[in-house]
Amino acid sequence: MRSAPCAFVDPMLNYQNRIFYLIKPLIPRRLQLFLRRKIVQRKLSTVKHIWPIDEKAVQRPEGWAGWPDGKRFALVLTHDVELARGHERCRDIMALEKQMGFRSSFNFVPERYDVSAELRNELTRNGFEVGVHGLYHDGKYYTSKKVFQKRAVKINQYLQEWECVGFRSPSMLCNLEWILDLNMEYDSSTFDTDPFEPQSEGTGTIFPFIVNGGPSRKTYVELPYTLVQDFTLFILMKEKNIDIWKKKLDWIAEKGGMALIITHPDYMRFNGEKQGFEEYPAGYYRAFLEYIQERYAGQYWQALPRDMAGFWRKFTTDSA
Ligand SMILES: [Zn+2]
Repeated sequence: MRSAPCAFVDPMLNYQNRIFYLIKPLIPRRLQLFLRRKIVQRKLSTVKHIWPIDEKAVQRPEGWAGWPDGKRFALVLTHDVELARGHERCRDIMALEKQMGFRSSFNFVPERYDVSAELRNELTRNGFEVGVHGLYHDGKYYTSKKVFQKRAVKINQYLQEWECVGFRSPSMLCNLEWILDLNMEYDSSTFDTDPFEPQSEGTGTIFPFIVNGGPSRKTYVELPYTLVQDFTLFILMKEKNIDIWKKKLDWIAEKGGMALIITHPDYMRFNGEKQGFEEYPAGYYRAFLEYIQERYAGQYWQALPRDMAGFWRKFTTDSA
C-alpha cells in the first residue's frame, strides 16, 4: 500500500494560488477568469517538464497483474456539476454517452443548488453513477480540522441518503488523511500532474492507490484524474482542439495506466445554445469519446469509478 504526497502537503505551498482562492468569492467572475488566465500563462513555460505528461508517473504498483480481461489501459469518465445550469445539462451528457456505449459518474454539490432525486434515479437506472462533490463549492474545507469534521457529518448524510460511495473535493483541495472521516469507498480529488490547481502537488501516478489511515483506521481507494480538466484546457488556455487530451490519452494507453477525465456540464455548450463566456462546444467531448472508440476499440476497460475502486481494493488485497 502507498499513500500520496498530497496527503501531507504543506499548507503554505502554492501560497499565491491559495490566497487567490480565498478571496475569489469577492471578485467578479469575469475578473476571476482574467486573473486565472494570467496565472496559467505565466506558469505554463515553467512546468512543461511535468505537464501535461509527468514521465515519472508511470511506475506500476507492486504485484501488478494488469486490468480486467487483459485490457491495455483503463478509462474512467467523470463529471462535476458545479451549478444549476450544469444540473440542467446532465441529461444531454447522459444521452450522448449512452448512445456511444459509455457510462460515467456525475458528482453533485448537495447544498449549492437543488439536486433532483429524479435525475439521480434516472442516472443510476441507466447505469451511471452519482457521487458527492463537497457540500458547498468553496475553498474552506481544509482551513481547520474542526471545519472539516463539521462538514464531514453532513457529507456522510448525503453519501448515505444518495447511496453513493464516491467523493470529490471542490477545487481539488484535499487532505487525504482527513477525508478518512468520510464513509466512502473512493475519493477522486487528486491528479497525477496538474500544476494549475491551487494545491498543485500531484500524486505522481497514473494508477489508483490505497490511502491507509493506520491499523485501526479505515482505508479507501484514491483515483487521481490523469487527463487535463476541460475548464483548464478550453476556458483558461483557450485551446480550440482536443490535441492535448489525445496526446495524454495516447501516452497513458502506451504505459497501460488509468485514463480518468473530469469534465463539467456547466461549461459545455450543446446544440442550439448560445455560447456563454465560459463555455466550450460539447462537440469537443464527443470528439474525445470518438477518438477513444476509433483508435482503441477493444483495448480499454471502461469502468465506473466505484467499479475501479472495487477492482483496486481486490487487487491490493490479493497481492498483499
Ligand atoms: Zn467543482
